[in-house]
Amino acid sequence: MTTVSDYFGSLVFDDRVMKAKLSSDVYASLKRTIDEGASLKNDVANAVALAMKDWAVEHGATHFTHWFQPLTGITAEKHDSFISPAPDGRVILEFSGKELIKGEPDASSFPSGGLRATFEARGYTAWDPTSYAFIKDKTLCIPTAFCSYGGEALDKKTPLLRSMQALNKQALRILKLFGNTDVKCVRTSVGPEQEYFLVDKAMYEKRKDLMFTGRTLFGAKPPKGQEMDDHYFGVIKPRVAAYMADLNEELWKLGVLAKTEHNEVAPAQHELAPIYTTTNIATDHNQLTMEIMQKVASKHGLVCLLHEKPFAGVNGSGKHNNWSMATDTGVNLLTPGETPYENAQFLLFLCAVIKAVDDYQDLLRLSVATAGNDHRLGANEAPPAVVSMFLGDELNAVLDAIKNDEAYESNGKTIMKLGVHVLPKFARDNTDRNRTSPFAFTGNKFEFRMLGSSNSIACANIMLNASVAQSLKIYADRLEGAEDFETALHDMIKKTIKDHERIIFNGNGYDDAWIKEATEKRGLLNLRTTPDAMSAFLDKKNIDMLTSLKVFSETEIKSRYEIQLENYCKTVNIEACTMIDMAEKEILPAVCAYEKALSETVSAKTAAVEGLKCKYEKGVISSLSALTDSIADAVEELKSAVGEYEKIDDVTKASFFIKDVIIPKMEALRAPCDEAETLTADKYWPFPTYGDLLFGVK
Ligand code: ADP
Ligand code: MG
Repeated sequence: MTTVSDYFGSLVFDDRVMKAKLSSDVYASLKRTIDEGASLKNDVANAVALAMKDWAVEHGATHFTHWFQPLTGITAEKHDSFISPAPDGRVILEFSGKELIKGEPDASSFPSGGLRATFEARGYTAWDPTSYAFIKDKTLCIPTAFCSYGGEALDKKTPLLRSMQALNKQALRILKLFGNTDVKCVRTSVGPEQEYFLVDKAMYEKRKDLMFTGRTLFGAKPPKGQEMDDHYFGVIKPRVAAYMADLNEELWKLGVLAKTEHNEVAPAQHELAPIYTTTNIATDHNQLTMEIMQKVASKHGLVCLLHEKPFAGVNGSGKHNNWSMATDTGVNLLTPGETPYENAQFLLFLCAVIKAVDDYQDLLRLSVATAGNDHRLGANEAPPAVVSMFLGDELNAVLDAIKNDEAYESNGKTIMKLGVHVLPKFARDNTDRNRTSPFAFTGNKFEFRMLGSSNSIACANIMLNASVAQSLKIYADRLEGAEDFETALHDMIKKTIKDHERIIFNGNGYDDAWIKEATEKRGLLNLRTTPDAMSAFLDKKNIDMLTSLKVFSETEIKSRYEIQLENYCKTVNIEACTMIDMAEKEILPAVCAYEKALSETVSAKTAAVEGLKCKYEKGVISSLSALTDSIADAVEELKSAVGEYEKIDDVTKASFFIKDVIIPKMEALRAPCDEAETLTADKYWPFPTYGDLLFGVK
């Protein structure tokens, strides 16, 4: 029997394969490129390409592709076969170092947000040797960054790598001050917990809203929803279990460390979490995971919905981004240490995150802003749109003690007197987890919970890495010039706590009282929708930070601002058009057909027995008739709003029009349709209901 360890990573050109297939010189040289960012020599590239090709062909591959992540949010690939004509009319299989390192896809059809006007349409892809190549669908996939010819990033990987570099540079400065000179590099790691829904494929295909938009735009509340809490961590149904088993196998072959799976809160909702890994690999793997989830579902007659809010009134799907920083020597910088000195270092890194989350709460919020995620954040769902942090009781007590120059006590025992030269020693936090906080410390990592299930995790991690790098930079600038390191360190930790304690909140994030306190007393931002959040991207403080750390150029920021808003507008506009189509072509005709049947019943009944009142039939007919009138009116309203929207050129204006005019009109159309559904006989309703979809997979 083959076991998981036999086939784990079997489709990945990983370190094991490299060692086996490359000469020791080439391997050593490539390792220097991967680990230390050393530039790659031509002969090394050629040797690696040859080994990769031979290995890929042995595993059945016929093509190769530069696999990249354009700003559409999904991955892109253009396949080239390895074949090259030989003089005798046959073909040989070739793949050069040049082809490995650089590709030139036509960039003109990918979103570039204004960059296209100023720069050439052509783009190029460049190999990211820090993420392993792999085989998918008989194609050797080479993870790459995607840039314009002017060198502007057109993808999500490039700024992510830059943000990791920025954090590395600043963290190394801090570590040096603490005497950690053996550390060569600091990397951020991420474990993203992915939520999703599974629905039956045949039912899915009967619903245009699911097919065109990934979510239901209509649907009355089913008699049973999630109120019984009987799904969460419940027994996994056989069809779902078979899917999960197959999914794991496919992911394991691709070297994705899929680890945990369970049912989520809503019926038909599930979660998959991998073991954490370096941020850029975690990002590649999460993109791959989302793709494979959908592909495997199809094989099982299922559809995997990654939308943040597939069903109104039912829990939405998010993605928890578990994030930490660690050295190449294996030290997690967010782990409290053994000695006061180690703890001081831990506290400084912790403070860097606290400062970052407070200073750049707007960037964190907008990094997850999409039309889909607006249904979660700011609606009555976890977490709220207000960014705050949860630290737990013990850490809070430590920070309070530092702030007030008091002794830190635990279990009634004074553990440490705080003087200028001494920082407290304390145990790892074991307090209860807070599940409602958008940004929670969970012992040795932070869990950023605002990401939507379909988001690329790149965006959130770019902002997170950059913001923390900025805090570290400010700290390093001050500490490097300090006369007395320990005094300066203590003062700076204390100052951070004082300046930024408003961002720390340990209560219930769902509570309306919290939103009031956060916005009115603490001055925290409550950016409920994508248009509300996006303008902050262009704030000077944010442009200054991101450009000074070289994570983005100003042009890149402006282009991304446009693209993100454009995506928002297009997404909602497609939803509006789909609603109009479904209401006109499916819902109205179905309701009319039912009304007709009822009317015919009335005629038949009164013909048979004179004087019958037919109260029931007539009652339903008049209710439905009132509803069809409302539906028809709402359709006209929405249509004319869409017409107006299409005339707006400016993307910012368009996004606010969508939010303030189109979305309310969509809601106004949905309401009478959902009510009509509750009055129409099942067999007349034109598509599967919420009940069918949520409980249809056995
Ligand atoms: P939960 O939050 O559900 O209790 P875990 O704490 O076990 O679950 O882990 C959730 C996710 O966090 C997993 O993907 C796990 O690999 C990841 N994780 C654990 N430790 C770290 C770390 N130091 N850095 C980043 N991610 C981590
Ligand atoms: Mg979690």
